[in-house]
Amino acid sequence: MSQNEVLFKRALQSIPGGVNSPVRAFRSVGGTPRFISKAKDAYIWDADGKQYIDYLGSWGPAIVGHAHPEVVQAVQRAAESGLSFGAPTEAESLLAEAIIARIPSIEKVRLVSSGTEATMSAIRLARGATGRNKIIKFEGCYHGHADSLLVKAGSGLLTFGNPTSAGVPAEFVAHTVVLDYNDLDAVKAAFAEFGADIACIIVEPIAGNMNLIKPVEGFLAGLRALCTEYGALLIFDEVMTGFRAGPQGVQGLSGVTPDLTTLAKVIGGGMPVGAFGGRADIMDQIAPLGPVYQAGTLSGNPVSVAAGLITLEILSRPGFYEHLQTQSAKLVNGLQEKAKAAGVAFCADSVGGMFGLYFRETVPTTFAEVSDVNHDAFKVFFHGMLDNGVHLAPSAFEAGFVSATHSDEILEKTLDAATRAFALI
Ligand code: PMP
Repeated sequence: MSQNEVLFKRALQSIPGGVNSPVRAFRSVGGTPRFISKAKDAYIWDADGKQYIDYLGSWGPAIVGHAHPEVVQAVQRAAESGLSFGAPTEAESLLAEAIIARIPSIEKVRLVSSGTEATMSAIRLARGATGRNKIIKFEGCYHGHADSLLVKAGSGLLTFGNPTSAGVPAEFVAHTVVLDYNDLDAVKAAFAEFGADIACIIVEPIAGNMNLIKPVEGFLAGLRALCTEYGALLIFDEVMTGFRAGPQGVQGLSGVTPDLTTLAKVIGGGMPVGAFGGRADIMDQIAPLGPVYQAGTLSGNPVSVAAGLITLEILSRPGFYEHLQTQSAKLVNGLQEKAKAAGVAFCADSVGGMFGLYFRETVPTTFAEVSDVNHDAFKVFFHGMLDNGVHLAPSAFEAGFVSATHSDEILEKTLDAATRAFALI
């Protein structure tokens, strides 16, 4: 038995499913999750000491590479001064200022400890600030696991959603309208029907939780226009795309300005952090200034903030995003060539340091299209890559992540592995 199997068996005794977040369990690809013992730059090592090129990147945060010496040093220094105080620190203002300086739509920002907290709080704020109840989300977009966001589309246009998790009463999602991503007409129809009671739209401006799906031309601008027309707030959930798709997230790439933005992952440099921010008049509705309650024992944790600050500084160095984007593009172009040579129906896409792999002929733009990929082919490819030392996300519905440490040599090794993995399909 491999050490991964030993550890998984043991974890299953004490942790539900053996994991602390479901997708880690390899349910959709089968097999034994790799238990990670250490990580450095673009590599991770499992419990058997086997090395992998890592395209999980901790699901996004590891953008400067694992255990970057400057990040590790900042964390060590902060830890030596105390792990948590429950009282304000100067470093929290520095991180807030760093975020505000980089993302023009954010005038004020509050730090929390996860992406889930950020989106949950942003939605409460949108409801509190507008005095309205309904929210619009899109099927296939994931915004964390707050009750009102665990919803899939109802059976027809303009029906309210159904809970996707046991334990969420239907009444809790009764105010959540679920529409198709990239379908602006559906959003128009929803506003025509319920416009006076829609508090906000929450959207992943590039979706990274149904593989990678980009917005079609005019979709984000259309959402902006409708929100403005009806007095609803536009929330960009940039938990994944913030500082990952580009230096100002998708709002910088698209030129569309949201009222509120949620962040996490990269801004914590691998430590637990989230944030929500936006227009000052809206943010000032939060306690203690305003009536919308939000709080956290570990919010603005000094060790997390130190990791985030140095990470944002590294990202600001000249050429960082150009390099990241180039490496992602080389990866997806190379994979497409290898698939073509092997005669496998496959395509791929990337933006900044994220990418999507699709076992179908064309890049999908809708949830229905992405649901239609060849899952069996993905599974074979995933395990072929894993056997050849490349760790991809263990699901056909997840985006992949490239770091600045994914050098040309590492990409070449990845493509060699892909040649072998595509040959298995
Ligand atoms: N929003 C988006 C867009 C995400 O990708 C995620 C996590 N994958 C979340 C929210 C939830 O963040 P967390 O897992 O930190 O709670």
